[in-house]
Amino acid sequence: MGRIQLKSVTKSFGDVEVIPPLDLTIEDGEFTVFVGPSGCGKSTLLRLIAGLEDITSGSIDIDGADATDVPPARRGLAMVFQSYALYPHMTVRKNIAFPLRMAKLDQAEIDKRVEGAAAVLNLTDYLDRRPGQLSGGQRQRVAIGRAIVREPAAFLFDEPLSNLDAALRVGMRLEISELHERLATTMIYVTHDQVEAMTMADKIVVLQAGVIEQVGSPLELYRTPRNLFVAGFIGSPK
Ligand code: ADP
Ligand code: MG
Repeated sequence: MGRIQLKSVTKSFGDVEVIPPLDLTIEDGEFTVFVGPSGCGKSTLLRLIAGLEDITSGSIDIDGADATDVPPARRGLAMVFQSYALYPHMTVRKNIAFPLRMAKLDQAEIDKRVEGAAAVLNLTDYLDRRPGQLSGGQRQRVAIGRAIVREPAAFLFDEPLSNLDAALRVGMRLEISELHERLATTMIYVTHDQVEAMTMADKIVVLQAGVIEQVGSPLELYRTPRNLFVAGFIGSPK
């Protein structure tokens, strides 16, 4: 499960409308990338879906139920924060287990889920280390592990690789794509990086000033960009 529908969603900060009425459906299991220049509203849109910001008007459905007024922790979505959001004094095991301890799951269930996530992310040998003893890529995996254990209906990533150097970014890109294949869970991935969008997405949503310029597969956007902005941004030969 992980179908997300935005219906005439708008968002204003004070008098400034940063998202004019916007409709979008994200299908269950899809890897959707929001791409567009800095300030176009990608993070805002993701935060509206997560419930970290209230929408100004419209509604958001998750798996067919109105989630507009559902608090973030009960939406069944997991936001993956950048690696610096790890607790430095806790081991990897404790960092990954943290949301489950907050949710008061029993210890056997916590251990099972943490070990499952560690296995998927190749972190089994690092469970007793602290974040300071890990590489940047490993820290990023711990942050993802903390989302996986919650068994969310969808993962929301906001430029998760922007702190990593170029070589590591390529590796992590592949790892996140592989994770999507393995889990088959809905993922929404925000980036301003066209290469990330083109290589990772099932579906790309191109945004400019809060407006969806086009939605389509990487190939569709490349072959038939709707306008010059999309063509320029995606790098189509038009
Ligand atoms: P992106 O993630 O694509 O770079 P954002 O969603 O962060 O863009 O921002 C979209 C627009 O909304 C920008 O003009 C930004 O200045 C504005 N904005 C974002 N958050 C706030 C806020 N809390 N208060 C006022 N304006 C905001
Ligand atoms: Mg942003």
